[in-house]
Formats: sequence, structure tokens, C-alpha cells
Amino acid sequence: MAEFENPYAEANPFARAHFDCLRCDGKLWEYAIQKRMVCEDCRAVFRSGEIFDAQA
Ligand SMILES: [Zn+2]
Repeated sequence: MAEFENPYAEANPFARAHFDCLRCDGKLWEYAIQKRMVCEDCRAVFRSGEIFDAQA
């Protein structure tokens, strides 16, 4: 019998990313599932790759 696992059931959809917003220097929160980050201050949404490129 196959075991069904919901990948979203245990994953915390938000993770505090160790990056700052490119617009306002606020803290970014990452949506790990969607590979996106959102700023807690100005609500700007970035692609994770965009952030990595900018702060690498
Ligand atoms: Zn911001």
C-alpha cells in the first residue's frame, strides 16, 4: 500500500530569509514552496533567484 504524503502538511510555508528587501531594507520572508520572498514592511514580492543574484 502506497503511503501518501502531503508535502505541504509539515512544511512551514514561511521561513525568515536572511536577506533584506531591495527596496526598503526590511526583513524578507520566504515562501519556500513558491520560491518567492515577501517583505514584511513594504510587501514587495521578489523571486528568490532575484534576491540571491542581488546579494551574492
Ligand atoms: Zn521592503
